[in-house]
Amino acid sequence: MKVDILAFGAHPDDVEMGCGGTIAKSTSMGKTVGIIDLTRGELGTNGSVELRDNEASEASSILGSKFRLNLDFEDAFIFNNKENQIEVVKIIRHYQPDIILSPTQFDRHSDHGKASDLIYESAFLSGLTKLDTAYEGENQSPWRPKINLNYQQWNDFDPDLIVDISDFIEIKKDAILAFKSQVLKDSSTKSTKINSDNFIESIKYRAKNYGRLIDKEYAEAFQSRKNIAIDNIFDLL
Ligand SMILES: [Zn+2]
Repeated sequence: MKVDILAFGAHPDDVEMGCGGTIAKSTSMGKTVGIIDLTRGELGTNGSVELRDNEASEASSILGSKFRLNLDFEDAFIFNNKENQIEVVKIIRHYQPDIILSPTQFDRHSDHGKASDLIYESAFLSGLTKLDTAYEGENQSPWRPKINLNYQQWNDFDPDLIVDISDFIEIKKDAILAFKSQVLKDSSTKSTKINSDNFIESIKYRAKNYGRLIDKEYAEAFQSRKNIAIDNIFDLL
């Protein structure tokens, strides 16, 4: 199955927080999107693996994702090693995305940077013709995505690209709020950085600030490790 976009997260909820608006906008345009979580977030302060699985599934439906897979890497111990790279290469070759959305390179949670490097290197390796892989018993052909964008997470960054998500900010917020165990508080939850009132408000005010920069209401920001080419300057209009 070929998809237009494969969105990777280190933990369930990363994708929603970083690029949920861009995914919702893309699926509303008829583009196909799949979400790949690298871990189940089993070391998260609140909730459980089962709860997060259910929440992730609900969030995917809200964003219109075709499917969501979990690679079951170890939370907090994602390694950018050959074994994990091959697992990611298999996924990229199977779904043949034109665009990859992946975690940010420098962030508070060390998994985000490690996942960013893992996806970046795997996307390159996936294009090597002499690297043999098989998925579900079938030999795979090489595939190199055209674009790999890192979405913003906890830290602010200097974006290379800003996407207008004005009509999709509420869908993004709903997808994030689907992770009730992570972002909502009740008497049994511990206080974390992502269940504070300020964090919930930041979903909108950060998007609003990027929107301000491009004269739109709400936007999401991305970085690219490579230059992004356009055919001619009028594509910018
Ligand atoms: Zn995360």
